[in-house]
Amino acid sequence: MFIYADNAATTKMSAAAIAAMRPYIEDCWYNPSSLYSAGQRAKEAVETARAEVARCIGAEPREIIFTSGGSESDNQALLTAAEIGRKAGKRHIVSDAIEHHAVLHTLAKLEKDGFEVTYLPVGTDGVVRAAAVEAAIREDTCLVTVMYANNEIGTVQPIGEIGEICRRRGVLFHTDAVQAVGHVPVDVCADKVDMLSASAHKFRGPKGVGFLYVRRGVKPATLIEGGAQESGRRAGTENVAGIAATAAALKEAAANMAANAAKLTALRDRLIAGLAEIPHSALNGDAKRRLPSNVSFCFEGIEGESLLLMLDDMGICASSGSACTSGSLDPSHVLLAIGRVHDVAHGSLRLTLGEDATEEEVDYMISAVKEVVERLRGFSPVWRDLVSGKSEFIL
Ligand SMILES: *Cc1c(COP(=O)(O)O)cnc(C)c1O
Repeated sequence: MFIYADNAATTKMSAAAIAAMRPYIEDCWYNPSSLYSAGQRAKEAVETARAEVARCIGAEPREIIFTSGGSESDNQALLTAAEIGRKAGKRHIVSDAIEHHAVLHTLAKLEKDGFEVTYLPVGTDGVVRAAAVEAAIREDTCLVTVMYANNEIGTVQPIGEIGEICRRRGVLFHTDAVQAVGHVPVDVCADKVDMLSASAHKFRGPKGVGFLYVRRGVKPATLIEGGAQESGRRAGTENVAGIAATAAALKEAAANMAANAAKLTALRDRLIAGLAEIPHSALNGDAKRRLPSNVSFCFEGIEGESLLLMLDDMGICASSGSACTSGSLDPSHVLLAIGRVHDVAHGSLRLTLGEDATEEEVDYMISAVKEVVERLRGFSPVWRDLVSGKSEFIL
């Protein structure tokens, strides 16, 4: 059995996305900035894709800037707000404790640059409170940035409520919607969003392509200087094939969204119920207010990394919440933010389902995780201390 359950990290390209790429690699590979008709056909492909992407999120085509992905979009959004804020003498930003590093590290850079950032806490349910956002906004606030859905624990934030508050208070609102676009309904008008980041490889498009929505009237800062591509808002010869594939993947995801969400929610809840049978375990994040594909657990008395390696041996691709991959042993900032203590946060597991997941696979994962957790606890000194009463159970 081989099960890919790490769809929050990246997704398999859809057949439609691959098919949409081919013509712009094999036949119409010309530079979209060229004046001859072959180049203009490539340009048309980019503009058709822009219109399609815009339609899927309720935007206008000119409000879409194609980028190299979610990280670049986040950087550009935050630097745009910072530039606007600096001109207006406003240097305060409101964000939260569970953002992606693309946002957090950009905020850290802005802090070094004289900006002040309020990082709102989240509840133990992993949800940012809209009222807390409202209370944090000051006279000198130039930006609120709160992610649409969390990449580790899958919690979906009250984006519409926060957007309403920001619009009323005259503050720019950015949302990192990389985990949401193509998975849950996203409408930039209904949600009153000013800037929104998305990434194609999280909705079955190619890696290295994404887009930033910037509401008309907001002047985007340029990160990449050079040619006049993307109306002078992002230089560099367009990734025509990638952009065409992004639109194809998103169109398909939007068309199948309701059916996929219904199917995945049922599988997700089956997986959650199965894993919850493991003693001294806990689901991370609210049980209902979460992405249809996301299951995140902590198991007391084990190391997440060993768990992942053993699951890999059993054919399961999973992820932990911790940042161990970067060589650091720090537990995930997201798990700490929802109140998991270090030891508990280390025993984390994230399983994110793809749309082709089956009940059989879910049942296999439940039994595999049960078996591996039991085995790991069998030779864990931390577990021995817990069982003997030397230390106290938390979960
Ligand atoms: C994956 C991800 C990103 C980064 O997107 P890339 O296209 O890989 O740069 C940013 N934010 C969130 C929430 C993500 O899940």
